[in-house]
Amino acid sequence: MKLVIGHMYPELLNLYGDRGNIITLKRRCEWRGIETEIKAITVDTNTNFKDIDILFLGGGSDREQKIVSDDLTLKRANNLKSAIEDGLTLLSICGGYQLLGMYYLSSDGNKLPGIGALEIYTVAGNKRMIDNIIIESYIDGKTFKMVGFENHSGKTFLQNNVKPLGKVIYGNGNNGEDGMEGAIYKNTFGTYLHGPVLPKNPEFTDILIKKALERKYGNCTLMPLDDSFEHLTQDAIVNRFVKK
Ligand code: GLN
Repeated sequence: MKLVIGHMYPELLNLYGDRGNIITLKRRCEWRGIETEIKAITVDTNTNFKDIDILFLGGGSDREQKIVSDDLTLKRANNLKSAIEDGLTLLSICGGYQLLGMYYLSSDGNKLPGIGALEIYTVAGNKRMIDNIIIESYIDGKTFKMVGFENHSGKTFLQNNVKPLGKVIYGNGNNGEDGMEGAIYKNTFGTYLHGPVLPKNPEFTDILIKKALERKYGNCTLMPLDDSFEHLTQDAIVNRFVKK
């Protein structure tokens, strides 16, 4: 078995070490004997998203997002939207997440178009939302907590058929107003959780790997890793680090 992991704009969307998510996906596949291939997708790379099993977009500052918005909307929007509709497993963080929506209106009034794959929009608020964050997610019948940190001025609002990734237990989340964090649409996930999010939340990592494997090879069961720390559930991790 092999999974191809597409890393979009590694040279632009890599705020707060988000590339650690790529390393985590690779390790948790290899620890199970699943081969991985990492494909860097930079500006000007021609990409057939049908060749990608898990796609990742990291976070970025407004300046980098402008470059990415131009490349995404002018050259990739249709192919990427089709891949998302077709069930591509996709994780996007903060700036990358914002650009999968309709637009991101930055604090200097610059309206960056997104690809419109998710019915969400983002408007920069007048204060940055910077804090640790804990959310409670419900994915594929499992409820679990996730931890990370957030640093964004953008306030994202979900429309119509877009579900949140989770509800905010502690922190701001999508907009600091509706108590929701992130977005789920088909197999596409967006979140404001930096950390990087995946090494801090192994259960979520395994959900992404399982989704990609099932889309490529059919139903499968991912055995838990037997590392003393790795097989802890999010609740056990949060309870270890968040004393009430
Ligand atoms: N520039 C965007 C914002 O400030 C995204 C920031 C990020 O990716 N952390 O909301």
